[in-house]
Amino acid sequence: MENITNYQIVSVLLSGPYNKTFDYLVEKTKQAKVGQIVIVPFGKQELLGLIFERSKNKIKKEKLKKIKSIVNLPLISKPFLDFTEFFASWNCAYKGNVLKLMVSPFDKKSIQNLDYKNYKPIDEEKTNVKGNFKKLNFYQKNASKEILNGFNKNSNCFLLDGVAGSGKTETYFEGVNHCLKNNKQVLILLPEIGLTSDWEERFKKTFGFKPLVWHSGITKSKKKKIWLSSLYNKKLVLVGARSALFLPFNNLGLIVVDEEHDLSFKQEEGIRYHARDMAIYLASKINIPIILSSATPSVETIFNVKLKKFSSLYLPSRATGSDLPEIQIIDMKENPTSSGNWLSDVMLKELLTRYKNNEQSLIFLNRRGYSPLTLCKNCGHRVQCNNCNSWLVEHKKEKIYLCHYCGYKKNVTGDCEGCNEAQLVSCGPGVEKIIEELSNCFPNAVIENFSSDTINKLDHFTESLKKIKSGKVDFIVGTQIIAKGYDIPNLNFVGIVDGDIGTYGGDLRSSEKCFQLLTQVSGRAGRHLKKKRGLVYLQTYNPESLVLKTIKEMNKDKFYEEELNFRKQASMPPFSRLISLIISSKYEKTLNEFSYNLFECAPKYKDVDILGPAPAPLNFVRGRYRNRFLVRSNKKIYLQNIVRDWISSIKIPRSIRLSIDVDPYNFM
Ligand SMILES: [Zn+2]
Ligand SMILES: [Zn+2]
Repeated sequence: MENITNYQIVSVLLSGPYNKTFDYLVEKTKQAKVGQIVIVPFGKQELLGLIFERSKNKIKKEKLKKIKSIVNLPLISKPFLDFTEFFASWNCAYKGNVLKLMVSPFDKKSIQNLDYKNYKPIDEEKTNVKGNFKKLNFYQKNASKEILNGFNKNSNCFLLDGVAGSGKTETYFEGVNHCLKNNKQVLILLPEIGLTSDWEERFKKTFGFKPLVWHSGITKSKKKKIWLSSLYNKKLVLVGARSALFLPFNNLGLIVVDEEHDLSFKQEEGIRYHARDMAIYLASKINIPIILSSATPSVETIFNVKLKKFSSLYLPSRATGSDLPEIQIIDMKENPTSSGNWLSDVMLKELLTRYKNNEQSLIFLNRRGYSPLTLCKNCGHRVQCNNCNSWLVEHKKEKIYLCHYCGYKKNVTGDCEGCNEAQLVSCGPGVEKIIEELSNCFPNAVIENFSSDTINKLDHFTESLKKIKSGKVDFIVGTQIIAKGYDIPNLNFVGIVDGDIGTYGGDLRSSEKCFQLLTQVSGRAGRHLKKKRGLVYLQTYNPESLVLKTIKEMNKDKFYEEELNFRKQASMPPFSRLISLIISSKYEKTLNEFSYNLFECAPKYKDVDILGPAPAPLNFVRGRYRNRFLVRSNKKIYLQNIVRDWISSIKIPRSIRLSIDVDPYNFM
């Protein structure tokens, strides 16, 4: 019999769907510490875990199992344990699943086999700045001074708010440089699609070395290396997509969220969370500054500035010294196009002038493919997805109809499936349709399709961007990815085909999204013109809308003021809290029965509204029927606890999938 007094008890968080910790014994001589990764027996299996705290329970040691092994790694620091706790609580997730995200490059086997002794941290010498810093203008200097002051204060959240091309990146680079000088780590979050050679080039030019890059496309072995670096290296710069937030940094000095308004920071599958919001919490826990950067900040962030929770740093002019573009609204009621065409005569005339002048033009339409709807003139049949209640989008080049929700595709045959007649017509334009229209008008022009269908591979993307930048392209036809902050030197005219996109979505952020997108796209025009200004034509049937008016007047403040008023009157975020429940099943009857039962046991509180169940706007996706609840309360209530209690009061049948979306952005 071993002497039980030689053991101590620790509480271990297990990787996987566990919310509470489990107590284990560990020999005192092993000097187990909070933050150590361990392997423990659990039932018949072994699991990866993390020593989360000293045990508070009074259990007889005889009843406990022993830890199998302690993985020889530096400790995961305390702020990350707090982060795990907060993250799980806020997003209604299991703590163990958050741990799983945190150790994601590894499983229990590979982490034990880690050859930590032979692990060579990235040579920190290589992160020595051999800088080539751009000269900052007056506003940039002021802003960077504020940022540098932020390092001496308690946690500090900055909004770096500047028009497109105002040099926000160069400004926050000053903060990055400060950290490097002080041997600190820096985390820069970028929208996934923004992680291109473009940004890396700029970084390398400025600092003389390459940052570590983290996104879903890099190999597992690279991920392991970066993971270990974040744990071992005192000094590094890591740029990554939202999941970089879970790396176990040991010496973080600054977080930057670039393009903070970008929707790709919201994770919409698995554990749903908003990376920007979680980054703000993490920074406050570690007590370091965080910089949110955007030309079109989110309404939430502007609200936090108004509440004086964030300090705003404003860059009003383009760093190149060129003026902001002139924006003209084209009223389509007065400028109708000929049947089947989408570009008005004024637009075509301007394109011709630019083309003759060897200037580049961008034609923007936020719709992939050729046509969003194909309809039979004979019988009214619509080409629809088999797995979803959505229309299939025709992609003419590949000769397919494609579902943009589930990826289902079928060949274009030309005959209607309803009546077998060849009477199918395309309704509404996609980028391919615009390209067709342009090549009819300009048969010799070089036209580049810049949408996620054509550039989803990184190589292709880089190539396409290079071609555009070299000036070899006359017309760029692009969807929203062209709006993501690329600097296109020769681009002086932007034509927006459909300025009414915001009026379709109908969710609480549709005006905001429209404002951001059109402002960003407009900002591409004339960034390097010296004496003249860039020009933007915006086609619309709704020239009086607030969004378009404020864009034309470049009156950002007015937009935010009106939008905040509207949200306040409607009791919508940021003035209230929302949580969505999305329930789905292959069987419609089971779904509706369960939804009803859930409704029956819904909590009844004075200040909590429960809306639903209602069929989701997309009520059939990937072969599953979907219902939604929307829960709303004022901001004083911690709504997550109410929802969690509610859900745990009912047994969820196996055929039902239920996901909780805290602070939802997607209402489909
Ligand atoms: Zn038909
Ligand atoms: Zn589908």
